Amino acid sequence: MDTYVTTVERDGVDDAVAAIIARHATLPLVAVLRALMQEYGHLSEGALRALAADRLVSLSRLYSLVSSYDDLRLEQQYEEALPAGKAAPLPEQLEESASGATGLLQGGPITARFEAPARSLEEYRAAGGMKAWKRARDLGSSKLFSEIVLGPITRQPDAWQRVASAGGDAVIVANCHGGDPLARQEDLLLERDPYSIVEGVMVAGQAISASRGFIYTRPLPGQEVERLQAIVAEMTALADSGIAIEVIAGPASLVAAESSVVVAVIDGLRPVPNVSDFSARGIWGRPTLVDTGECFAAIAAVIGGEEEVNTRLYQLTGAVERAGIIEAEASSSVRDLMEIAGARPGAEALVGGLSGRFLTEGEVDQEMLHLKPAIGPRWRLIHVLEDPRDIYPMAVQTAAYNAASLCGACVPCRIGSVRMAEMIPEYLVDFDKLEELARTLELTGLCLTGRGAAAMISSALRYVS
Ligand code: SF4
Repeated sequence: MDTYVTTVERDGVDDAVAAIIARHATLPLVAVLRALMQEYGHLSEGALRALAADRLVSLSRLYSLVSSYDDLRLEQQYEEALPAGKAAPLPEQLEESASGATGLLQGGPITARFEAPARSLEEYRAAGGMKAWKRARDLGSSKLFSEIVLGPITRQPDAWQRVASAGGDAVIVANCHGGDPLARQEDLLLERDPYSIVEGVMVAGQAISASRGFIYTRPLPGQEVERLQAIVAEMTALADSGIAIEVIAGPASLVAAESSVVVAVIDGLRPVPNVSDFSARGIWGRPTLVDTGECFAAIAAVIGGEEEVNTRLYQLTGAVERAGIIEAEASSSVRDLMEIAGARPGAEALVGGLSGRFLTEGEVDQEMLHLKPAIGPRWRLIHVLEDPRDIYPMAVQTAAYNAASLCGACVPCRIGSVRMAEMIPEYLVDFDKLEELARTLELTGLCLTGRGAAAMISSALRYVS
């Protein structure tokens, strides 16, 4: 049963803890927990009780949150009672090749500042930054909204429409968490051109009337969060943007980039997927828009520039002459991108990361746009295989990783992903059963990541059959 904290207990709280909680009064719960961690190195029961009383949430909710983040720790005696295992080791071959994929193979408007990143707002402006913000103010919100939503910038125009029609003061989240640990596009954008993402959020705030925004990232070292927060503070103050933006790091889990998880993290709920429609009632009950960091960087490029931008960032790894990031047309086919990176003709690929699917030679002519669901950086991750015989061993390894790393929030995937990982090494024993299980999970898993993990196995089975 949930434990609520009484006013009497709250009165006994240490003044320093109370001051930290008060200083972070407008921030999400996880941000306050991190501030307490930074001060004390762990979270004491007293601090959690004080926070629970201040925010009127249950203690069990706070304990559940602490158990979901690798960087939050309780005092020793409670630590041992919590479930472990938030992150499992990655399949070696995939991890090694992804870690080398940080160079820019082909640039474009979104990556224009990658080679010479701005080190200050002044440098950003000197390189043409803040033009989008200036133009956004001149255009007015309805014209601005049309330019963003009717053009090719976002892959989720319906979500933008729903938030706009919900009315009221909205919240915007730039989702810069790649989710899949192999997807690096958002990390590179944050590292080399965070200014464009922040400018894009400010512009979007004008378009849909939002007074709060978040830059949501993977777990980052404290000084990196501070660097980003300083950039945000400088830009929003100088531009008198009317939107307060915070940087918040999510958990390291595979599902952390699912939009419903992003909303849950900022709302102080357990970071697992759910099916609620947050467009009309999301963070703090307000209409909420979640789109990729890349989308907001593209907004800064499109609204601030003359030319139309219809490019996306793709990441090529594996058996290619040059691994790295390619900015190319949204309509590029898998084959086009493999050729740019120098893959051997006729090569097979795993497209979409750990929850992606294997494509054989006859399938790589598909446009990336038409690979469903094709939203988010994970879907633009292409790992080229050395040999078609690698497909099945890689599927076996990836299934084991996924079974240990998926969140377990829904029953079909919690049980099914483990069962698939057990069955896949021995597929010859019961091929039909494994195929049926994978197809069932593709239909019944709660989130795209879990359903994708099953689709990855189906695609490998197609190859061996
Ligand atoms: S499908 Fe899998 S990853 Fe998604 S919510 Fe269910 S258990 Fe979690």
